[in-house]
Amino acid sequence: MDIASLADAVQRGERRAVARAITLVESTRPEHRAQATALLETLARTGREAIRIGLSGTPGVGKSTFIESFGLMLVEQGLRVAVLAVDPSSKRTGGSILGDKTRMEQLSRSPNAFIRPSPSQSHLGGVARRTREGVALCEAAGYDVVLIETVGVGQSETVVAELSDIFLLLLAPAGGDELQGVKRGIMEAADIILVNKADGALKPAAMRTCADYAGALRLLRRRPQDPEGFPKAMTVSALDVSGLDVAWSEICKLVEWRRAQGHWQTRRAEQARHWFQEEVRQTLLARLDSPQARAVMQTLSGQVADGQITASRAAEDLFARIWPEMQPTNPPESLDAATDTP
Ligand code: GDP
Repeated sequence: MDIASLADAVQRGERRAVARAITLVESTRPEHRAQATALLETLARTGREAIRIGLSGTPGVGKSTFIESFGLMLVEQGLRVAVLAVDPSSKRTGGSILGDKTRMEQLSRSPNAFIRPSPSQSHLGGVARRTREGVALCEAAGYDVVLIETVGVGQSETVVAELSDIFLLLLAPAGGDELQGVKRGIMEAADIILVNKADGALKPAAMRTCADYAGALRLLRRRPQDPEGFPKAMTVSALDVSGLDVAWSEICKLVEWRRAQGHWQTRRAEQARHWFQEEVRQTLLARLDSPQARAVMQTLSGQVADGQITASRAAEDLFARIWPEMQPTNPPESLDAATDTP
């Protein structure tokens, strides 16, 4: 593959090139990885920047409907919109909830939209860093807004928050007065809570739910990256396309403020650090999966099982054999130091 011409085509915003580039970064083959790295390095020089919006919500809350309506609204305003997904469900089901072809039909027909079904059959931690590279490719391709969608199943929201500038939490109107069991950590990560389905018979319930969440948000500790009034809760109807313009103007307000105050760059820098660490961790794990490492591990685990050596000694032996240069440069402190603590 000619990386230079692929990079050019991506920069011209050709959708097929973007799709090919994403396939390349998702590939686990070593030669593809080297090409992907070269491609990302080339494209990093474009300096183009999108607004990265994370969107999370449980199945059925209206994520696809929201993306379709919201995406179309942005496209009508002359913006170019890309949609990517992090799909933690693939690990459990072997399939992809978010990959469904019929979703976002209208948006997918717009020449100014790019929709990427989620990668399947992969481990969350491993996939998310490739999604991040997909986001970078979309930015280089000149998309103004990149929506990163995930099904809310706990861990995935945290991942999406690490991928986005603005994190939206989509909720449905609650029946009772419960806060739908939304975990505190997720609330704390949200910039804007959108209570969807505020239409028809559901409207009163949506307004009550919204008020409940607005109250809950006020109880959270004030975050330095927020102007007065954020994080906030608001009602929308993805189906009736109402409230979406207000949501967008609130997002823009937040983006402007964070850019002006320097929080935007700080957050991106922190995220870059996070993903570097993640990359190191995943690379280490991948190296342990080499045939050589596996063979050594098998021998050693037999010895551990037989009680011939301890687990910690076996681990040390493993690294001494497969990775001699990785030994700690400073030998561990003497036993005395370790037993000194009461
Ligand atoms: P997802 O699983 O989160 O992607 O949810 P979908 O977008 O597939 O929506 C699930 C169901 O909720 C569908 O039947 C939608 O038509 C419905 N839905 C989505 N948004 C709205 C809305 O704003 N109002 C109403 N009344 N229903 C909605």
